Amino acid sequence: MAGVYIAYPFCAQKCTYCNFVSGVFPRDAERRYVAALAAELRAHTWPWRPETVYLGGGTPSMLGCGDLRELLSLIPGHPWKEATIEAAPGSVTPERALLWAECGINRVSLGVQSFVEREIRRTGRKHTAPIVEQEVAILRRAGIGNVNIDLIAGLAGQTEASWRESLDWIERLAPPHVSVYMLEVDEDSRLGKEMLLGGVRYGAAETPDEEQTAAFYEMAVERLAALGLRRYEISNFAQPGYESLHNLKYWRLEPYAGFGADAHSFDGQTRSQNPESVAGYLAGGRAQSVPARVDEERFFVGLRLMDGVRLEPDEWRRFEAPIQRFLDEGLLEAEDGVLRLTGRGVLLSNEVFQEFITT
Ligand code: SF4
Repeated sequence: MAGVYIAYPFCAQKCTYCNFVSGVFPRDAERRYVAALAAELRAHTWPWRPETVYLGGGTPSMLGCGDLRELLSLIPGHPWKEATIEAAPGSVTPERALLWAECGINRVSLGVQSFVEREIRRTGRKHTAPIVEQEVAILRRAGIGNVNIDLIAGLAGQTEASWRESLDWIERLAPPHVSVYMLEVDEDSRLGKEMLLGGVRYGAAETPDEEQTAAFYEMAVERLAALGLRRYEISNFAQPGYESLHNLKYWRLEPYAGFGADAHSFDGQTRSQNPESVAGYLAGGRAQSVPARVDEERFFVGLRLMDGVRLEPDEWRRFEAPIQRFLDEGLLEAEDGVLRLTGRGVLLSNEVFQEFITT
C-alpha cells in the first residue's frame, strides 16, 4: 500500500539551524501555493488507494482550516490508516485539534527539538516546555494520542544536564513516539555561517562537537529504551505498534506520491522530485525524474532500520568486500541472512552507506 506526502514549506520564523526550502513567505505566496497544491492533487491519477498521508514542512499546522479540509478531501482513501500532520508547538489549539481529528488526522508530530528555554530561543523558536505539555493534553482530549516529539541532540548551548532535562520531559509527557536527530550544521544556515565567520548571536561557539552530540544521542537511546520506546530506525523510537507507517514506506521502498515544492515521489521504479523552491513550484516547473537504483537503495535505506535487511545470495557476493570490512570493524552484524548496523555502526552510518552507493 502506498503513501501520500504533502509539502507545506511555510513557517512562522526561520530557525537558525535550518536550511530546508521552508521559511517565511508573503501571505499572497501562501494563498497561491495552496491553490497550486490543490490543482496538483486534482490532476493526479491515483494508481492505488493511499494508506498513509503525511503533511510535512515547513509548518503545515499553520494551514487554514478551510485549506486543510479542501486539500485532504482531494486525497482518496479516507479514513487513512495513518495521517500525520507536523505541528510547531504554539500552534495547537483545541479548535485545530478537533478539526484535524474530524478530517482524518490521527497522528501529530510536534517539532519540539528541546524543552530547555535558552536552547529553544537560540533556534529562533518561541515555545516553552509548559506550552508543549498543554498541547499534548489538547491533542489527547481531541482523541489524537498518537503523538511524536522531535528532539535535536547538539543544539547550541546544550549540555549533558540540559539534555537530561529534555529527556525528563519525554518521561513526563510519555509520547508513544520520539525522533532524535543529531544536529549536522549546514554551512548555509544562519548557525553554519556564524560558525564559519564568527559571531555570538546564534551560539555557534557553544555548539557541542560531534563527539558530545553522539554521546547525547547514546544517552537518549538508553533512556528511551528504559521508557519502552524501542529504536526501530536510526532516529526513530516508538512503543510497539506506534512506528510511523508512512516513514516506514521510505525505508522499505514502498511507493508514495509527493505534492508541493521539493516533494519527492517513488513508484517502485522511478524517483521524481518537484521544483525545489516555492517560486519554481508556483511558476509551474515540472518534476524531474530519474530511474531508481533499487538494488543499492535497499542497503542504504534498509540498513537505517534496526531490523536490518535480508540479503539475497548474489547480494552477499556483490558486496562481500565492504560487508566483511564492516563486520570486522564491528559496524555491521549478520545473523540468519540478515544484515544490520550495530550500535557503533549507527553512529558511523553515513560511512557505511557510502560504501554501498559507490560499490
Ligand atoms: S526547522 Fe522547521 S520550523 Fe524551523 S524553519 Fe526549518 S522547516 Fe521551518
